[in-house]
Amino acid sequence: MAEPSVSHLNTTVPLLALTEPQMARLVSTHGWPAYRTAQILRWLYQRRLRKIMEMTDLPMQDRLALSRSASIGRSERVTVLRSQDGTRKLLLTLEDGMTVESVLIPDDTRLTLCVSTQVGCMLDCGFCLTGQMGLKRNLKLHEIIDQVLTSQEILTSDEHITNLVFMGMGEPLANVEALKAAVAALTNKPWGLGWSRRRITVSTAGLASRLSDVAAMGVNLAISLNATTEEQRRNLMPAASAIASLKSLLSACRRYPLAPHRRLTFEYVLLAGVNDLPADARRLALLLRSLRCKVNLIPFNEFPGSRFHRPPDEDVLRFQSDLRKAGLDVYVRKSRGRDVYGACGQLGDVPSNQASVTLTAIETRC
Ligand code: SF4
Repeated sequence: MAEPSVSHLNTTVPLLALTEPQMARLVSTHGWPAYRTAQILRWLYQRRLRKIMEMTDLPMQDRLALSRSASIGRSERVTVLRSQDGTRKLLLTLEDGMTVESVLIPDDTRLTLCVSTQVGCMLDCGFCLTGQMGLKRNLKLHEIIDQVLTSQEILTSDEHITNLVFMGMGEPLANVEALKAAVAALTNKPWGLGWSRRRITVSTAGLASRLSDVAAMGVNLAISLNATTEEQRRNLMPAASAIASLKSLLSACRRYPLAPHRRLTFEYVLLAGVNDLPADARRLALLLRSLRCKVNLIPFNEFPGSRFHRPPDEDVLRFQSDLRKAGLDVYVRKSRGRDVYGACGQLGDVPSNQASVTLTAIETRC
């Protein structure tokens, strides 16, 4: 990952942008004892500190020195949109004025946080609002971590995040160095959040050559498939299918070094009359035959101007039943947060009619 400047102490470095080795170099540049590295990281991750001067186990002169050369790197403006179904969408304003979105999704005993890795997306999946924005830029490490820490801050006392999916705005494997650093911090026990890698999922639209990076991280892999023929995938996901054909993507999935007791997840957005027909179910079952996997069906979440429609519930259930009869483990993902445009495929430029939806559900913290 590109190294933030730590050698020039008159430059303000976001501390959350530093990996552990980079923090160790910063500490050494100041001439401080090595244990200070974990001390500072614990303040950032475990205590979610927003002010360097509040690092009370650092000598005052060290806090002052650090304040002159660094900032924490947290967003100072956060808007929370609350859906009627309990879903919360967070909009964090970044230093350059851009906005990044994350979504907290409650479901029975689970509370899943969906995190973004880019502002916008370089891919152009036709069923996704984010894709219509184009890629604005990759998120930096501190901007990814800030989504998690800020989400933790808005939880009620009886809530905790059970799962984290890199499935928000952007293609995570197109920002893989920041992704790796974020996973390292989320799973680090001594100073990070100490989460199990089993609770973390990276979802890709199909960057087949980078699946090995996910395996190396030890987290779960989800593949956004959505099509059962090359032509259909080219129509629905032109950029992703130019990077890897359906055939090469599924070959990469077959070669994927799945750990024991783990399985791949295939995401399949159901589009009425486009990819939800009995023939699609038959082809999908054949494509996934002999793969250790489960399938998540996601009935399309409509947004203004989209050319696709959500299939009726009976078609969704029929598609699920066809796949189950073929021996696949298949779930229908409940659509959560649609009223705040927080559902799958709905993250991105805020539609102009959203204000009327969110007037009673908006909180802004500066
Ligand atoms: S579905 Fe994912 S990969 Fe495709 S455009 Fe949307 S954010 Fe990008």
